[in-house]
Amino acid sequence: MQDRQLYEQILGIGSPWSVDRVELRLEEGEVHVYLGHAASTPWPCPECGRACSLYDHQPERSWRHLDTCQYRTILHAEVPRANCPEHGVRTAAVSWAQPHSRFTALFERLAIDWLLAASQQAVAERLGLSWDEVHAIMERAVRRGLKRRKTEMIGYLGVDEKSFRKGHKYLTVVNDLARGRVLYVAEDRKQSSLDGFWPTLTEEQRAWIQGVALDMWDPYVRSIRKHLPNAEEKMVFDKFHVAQHLGEAVDKVRRTEHKQLQEKGDDRLKGTKYDWLKSRGKFDLSKWREFCTLRRSNLKTARAWALKEQAMKLWDFTYLQAARNHFAWWYRWASHSRLPAMIEKAKMLKTHLQNILTYLTHGITNATSESINAKIQWVKYTARGFRNLENFKNAIYFHCGHLNLTP
Ligand SMILES: [Zn+2]
Repeated sequence: MQDRQLYEQILGIGSPWSVDRVELRLEEGEVHVYLGHAASTPWPCPECGRACSLYDHQPERSWRHLDTCQYRTILHAEVPRANCPEHGVRTAAVSWAQPHSRFTALFERLAIDWLLAASQQAVAERLGLSWDEVHAIMERAVRRGLKRRKTEMIGYLGVDEKSFRKGHKYLTVVNDLARGRVLYVAEDRKQSSLDGFWPTLTEEQRAWIQGVALDMWDPYVRSIRKHLPNAEEKMVFDKFHVAQHLGEAVDKVRRTEHKQLQEKGDDRLKGTKYDWLKSRGKFDLSKWREFCTLRRSNLKTARAWALKEQAMKLWDFTYLQAARNHFAWWYRWASHSRLPAMIEKAKMLKTHLQNILTYLTHGITNATSESINAKIQWVKYTARGFRNLENFKNAIYFHCGHLNLTP
C-alpha cells in the first residue's frame, strides 16, 4: 500500500479530498500530510448547504492531528471558498476539523479526554501544547457544551461565591443542587453578577424553582428578589455560612481574652484557636478530654463557644414554631452575654432569621452539592496556568458543568 493511501485510510479522508503527498521529517519527529481535492467538485455553502461552484482557495492552513506512532502529525490543505448565489463567497467546511480550530476534531477529542482526567500542566506537557492552546481547546469545548444544553426543570439552586487569587477577585457560581452541576459562572459577587443568570432560564424554568441556598449577602438577595416569584419563601441562607460567622465571633472573643489572660501569666488559651472551631469528630479522645475542661470553664471563650453550638441546633428542628422558640431563647442569652462580637452576630441572625428557618421547609445548603465544591477546589489547585478569570470560569464549566464537550 502506498503511504498516500495508508494516510487516507487512517485519517478517514474521503472524496472529494485525497492525500497528495506525505512528508516525513525525521529530525523534527513530524509527519506532514498534504491534502488536495478533485478539481470539479461542488462545495456546499456553510449557510444553506446548497452545492456551489468553487470561488477560490484560502491560503494553506494546518491542523495538528493525533500522532502517528511517535510522530507528531500535521495536516495541510487550502480550504476552498464556495460561491453561493444567496450568501456570497463563503469558506467551505472541512470534515476533519471545526472552523477556526488549529487541531483536527479527533485531536481535540483526545485532548478533552485527557483534560477531564489530569491537570492542565500534565496534558500540556504530554501533548506538547502551549497554555493558550489548552485554554482555546477548553473554551471551544465549553461553548459547544453550553449551546447543546437542554432546557431542564431545576428544583433547587445554590448560589456560591468562589475566590480567585487569594480573595482579590471573586466569581459567582450557580449550581443545580440535585444534579450536582454548575449552571452559571460570572465575574464578581455583585447583584449584576447574579442578574446575568436569570435570562438563561425560560419562564417555566424560573417558576419551577423551589428553593435557593445562598450566603447572607445582600447583592444576591436583591437579585433573587428581583427575578424569582415568591422569593421570600424560597431563599435559604446557608447553614455553613452562618456557622462561619459564629466561628469568627468565637475567635474574636478568644483573641481578646487570650491577650488579657497572658498579661496575668495565664496561658490556658495558648494554641487552642482551632479547637474552638472544629467539630467533636475531629478530636482524638485525650485531646477532647482536655478541651472539655476548657469549654466547661468560666472563660468568656467557652461561653461564646456554647452560644455557637446552641445556635447551630436551629438546623435540627422539624417544626417551625419550636425553632422560633429556640431562637428567641438563644437570642436573649446572646444579647445578654456581654460579648460584643457575639451580640453583633446575634443581631445579624435575627435580621436574617426568616430565611434561615426556610431551611426547615427545603433542607438545602450549599454543601448539598459537596462534589461541586471539591471539584472546583481541584480545578483551582491544578490550574496554575490561569492568567485570567476567563480561563478559570471556563475550567469550572468544563469540569463541573456536566456538558457534552466533544467536537
Ligand atoms: Zn448559501
